[in-house]
Amino acid sequence: MKPAATFLIFFILTNACGPTQANQTPTNLPSVSIQTISPTSAQGSSLSSPTANEHAEEPPPTEYDLDVVFDYTGHNLEVREEINYTNSNGEPIKELQLVVEAQHLGAGFTLTGLQPISGSNIGEPEFSGGLLHIPLLSPLASGESLQLELEYFLVLPAGSGTLSWTDRQTNFIDWYPYIPPYINGQGWLIHQPALVGEHSVFERANFDVHIEVANAPASLQVAAPAPAEVHDSTFDYELHNARRFVWSASGQYEVLDAHLGETKISVYFFNEHRDAAEASLETAKQALDLYSELFGAYPYESLSVVEGQFFDGMESDALFFLDQYYFLTYSHDPRNYLTALTAHEVAHNWWFGQVGNDQALEPWIDEALCVYSELLYYENTYPHLVDWWWEFRIDRFHPQGSVDSTIYDHSGFDSYVQVVYMRGSQFLRDLRTAIGEGPFFAFLRAYATLGAGQIASREDFFSLLKEYSPVNLDPTISDYFREQ
Ligand SMILES: [Zn+2]
Repeated sequence: MKPAATFLIFFILTNACGPTQANQTPTNLPSVSIQTISPTSAQGSSLSSPTANEHAEEPPPTEYDLDVVFDYTGHNLEVREEINYTNSNGEPIKELQLVVEAQHLGAGFTLTGLQPISGSNIGEPEFSGGLLHIPLLSPLASGESLQLELEYFLVLPAGSGTLSWTDRQTNFIDWYPYIPPYINGQGWLIHQPALVGEHSVFERANFDVHIEVANAPASLQVAAPAPAEVHDSTFDYELHNARRFVWSASGQYEVLDAHLGETKISVYFFNEHRDAAEASLETAKQALDLYSELFGAYPYESLSVVEGQFFDGMESDALFFLDQYYFLTYSHDPRNYLTALTAHEVAHNWWFGQVGNDQALEPWIDEALCVYSELLYYENTYPHLVDWWWEFRIDRFHPQGSVDSTIYDHSGFDSYVQVVYMRGSQFLRDLRTAIGEGPFFAFLRAYATLGAGQIASREDFFSLLKEYSPVNLDPTISDYFREQ
């Protein structure tokens, strides 16, 4: 694992999904189909080594129990957070670090209480640079668990954003302190924000969230990544094996629902965009169906699409935001960003949610797959629009550069999107051509299945890929990557 970048930039310019930017246009590709393909070699990948996986004990996910009072008109949260963490890292931990992203996002975070419930005693905590350092008076040995209780007060800033409020919506992305991944021999894996992209790395976790809303209008709607148990003004949620718990509240949301089997799909939108919301709902349902077939079963009970008042989009498990601009510019035709990006964000449930990655240092791992998943959606749903998709999303931008760049390599959104998203999707196109339809889709499915719950690296990606490839991929990889 590479060391964490250490420089700090004070705001995040852009979010997850690069829309408005991006050689060859493929001829009409056949509809994808599931085939049973076995690896062509027995080379080991850390995602695929059967002997290691069969015998390794799955470490228990960290448990977050969040008890929230949300003052709707006061724009603040009072939170009691209980964290149950097991050290499954193979070496003792002397200091726990919690990421408090709220500080980077301009929210006022005041810690009002911190005590261990069980496990190690703790020393005096120190809070700086968006990190809460908690010394453990006796190191937490490998295999041992620690239960902590935090109490804090969070004041949301005004303005459109991922953790803020406007007169139309209040958004809660990265609103609670969380434990980052730990790398043996290196410590906590924490990155600082950059001008572009996302920098957080999340381990899978379980969430038990209780939200009591005060001073809210009767028309309040809460969008969340799980079905709610609602009693008066309280909302209870359980979300398991997810990277994070994201939610949004508004007195102005209208809601459209659909079902795909047992999964409830909802779109939360503003009333002037009903036609667009209907289109997004239909796309989300079609994409969820397709990706479940191609990559493996969707792991959550519901999926929420939220019309957002901040730039672009933001993925999360079982819930994503899409900029109101895409609803506004919906053209009553699938040739638009709303349709393409709805499919893109649904795909993040596999490429981010199921298979995690280091979004700061290896952002292509999830983003290239999500852009390419858009194409898979069009191939299956609107096959006559495949050429349109390549031109609209990729070719007209004439992307250049190496796919393996970090979020810190770019001073602007365009170059970042070109290499990570657009060159990344061209790489996947050439990869598919090189290895063939059957191995390509067998690889994607194996990667989604074996990588579920893990944080995959490029080494994981390539070593598993080579197991499924009947040809030498070095020439294709060297066309797109600086390092083999
Ligand atoms: Zn994305």
